[in-house]
Amino acid sequence: MGNITQGAVDALREAIGGEVCQPGDTGYDEAVNIWNGAISRRPGVVVRCTSSTDVAVALSFAKRDGLEVSVRGGGHNYAGFALTDGGLMIDLTPMKEVRVDPDNRRATCGGGTTWGEFDAATQAHGLATPGGFVSRTGVAGLTLGGGLGWLSRLAGLSCDNLVGAEVVTADGRVVHASDTDNPDLFWALRGGGGNFGVVTEFEFALHPVGPLVHLGLFLFSPDQGGNLFRFAREFVRDLPDECCAFLAGLSAPPEPFIPADLHFAPAYALVVVGFGDDVAHAQLIAPIKEALTPIVELVTPIPYVALQQMFDAAAPWGLHSYEKAVYLDELSDGAIEVILEHQATKMSPLSFVPIFVLGGAYRRADGNSTAFGGSRGIRYVVNISASTPSPDEYEAERAWARGYWSALVEHAVGVGGYVNFMTDYDEDRVRNAYGTKYDRLQAVKAAYDPHNMFHLNANILPAG
Ligand SMILES: Cc1cc2nc3c(=O)[nH]c(=O)nc-3n(C[C@H](O)[C@H](O)[C@H](O)COP(=O)(O)OP(=O)(O)OC[C@H]3O[C@@H](n4cnc5c(N)ncnc54)[C@H](O)[C@@H]3O)c2cc1C
Repeated sequence: MGNITQGAVDALREAIGGEVCQPGDTGYDEAVNIWNGAISRRPGVVVRCTSSTDVAVALSFAKRDGLEVSVRGGGHNYAGFALTDGGLMIDLTPMKEVRVDPDNRRATCGGGTTWGEFDAATQAHGLATPGGFVSRTGVAGLTLGGGLGWLSRLAGLSCDNLVGAEVVTADGRVVHASDTDNPDLFWALRGGGGNFGVVTEFEFALHPVGPLVHLGLFLFSPDQGGNLFRFAREFVRDLPDECCAFLAGLSAPPEPFIPADLHFAPAYALVVVGFGDDVAHAQLIAPIKEALTPIVELVTPIPYVALQQMFDAAAPWGLHSYEKAVYLDELSDGAIEVILEHQATKMSPLSFVPIFVLGGAYRRADGNSTAFGGSRGIRYVVNISASTPSPDEYEAERAWARGYWSALVEHAVGVGGYVNFMTDYDEDRVRNAYGTKYDRLQAVKAAYDPHNMFHLNANILPAG
């Protein structure tokens, strides 16, 4: 690790349009405050970039002084990869401009934009692209790793909808990536994570969505879990693309629509969101109440932007968090048994196991057209997320998540997980996550980042 001299930092300040800060400076604590409270790395210098030129200058400074580089988009990575210990952090938070071209159904946004900011701009035109389930997550990290969300059955992953990107590469060049410009880089950016450069601008295809969509949220008591999962695996099989379903093992949140005596009680959830008309949605969800007796139900139209914020309060900033995920082809009886057994031993009410139901456009997408590592044939992603308010309970809750994963992976499609739902990123795990795409990713890495400057990520080692 190199040294940071005051003279060099002063020169960097002169050269940068944005701010440069070090520990103790105004803006430093805000910049290094990331979502996962379990991570406490302290960058030696933070460059709050306002342009791709700032990013190029910061990279050249880091290279000259031998500093490790980290890149911050929305700061939501569980492993805390936005932070380097002692090195230089490129903070893209100031780069949030969103421009919408409603006629061509396209939107561009800066590398530090959050999904909440992106959705607000596109929904002003009744348009959207698949983003995550929490509105404060960064467009950057989520898209570069894949991007699963409410619209994934309708329109695929976030990365499936990326049509172009501006990238600052390790040698300081500013390049455009698309199907026609640097197509190898464009392929790798869509799923290969932050390995290939700093993305300063994303361009997405948009789809007509909302502004009102149809929510059907049902909660069930723990003893109804088995019946719920056996019902749900048939129910979701033939869902239309205009509908997204989501299952979860959780503790009932203290929301006004939930009776006070159920707040924080262990429960299961089935959420079905319709993007088509209300009558079709009512018909679609009718079988749920015919087959099951939910303890809570909320069936209502809801603005798409509110849907995108629905889980924000359940995932507050600063929790001590850990996650691991499993891809399942089916909710087999064996998998259901594991889920029920391990949900029953969850200790923290903040731990949450969302089960994403895939299908539609996600499954129809050509798996080779992007670097996304997951199979397009899978039906479920189970994300085991352990969160505690303080470090005291963290180790035990993390052990719970690891035990849950080890039991469930017996029923999984391979052991490779989704890179956006990992906390431990050793080389084997990353290789497994990309499977046969790993060699091609290594070749692209060698072409754009041969010295592995961008290694604080699901790291792909340069070929050779
Ligand atoms: C509460 C919560 C909810 C989530 N929900 C979902 C979900 O619904 N669907 C889903 O698919 N995932 C979800 N995730 C996972 C999420 O996709 C990843 O954590 C992702 O890394 C977050 O991106 P970020 O920009 O916020 O994170 P950061 O921590 O800022 O960055 C993550 C990684 O991307 C790199 N990076 C960031 N910005 C850039 C850039 N501009 N250019 C190049 N590299 C960059 C970083 O170096 C780092 O390696 C969720 C995570 C959390 C904590």
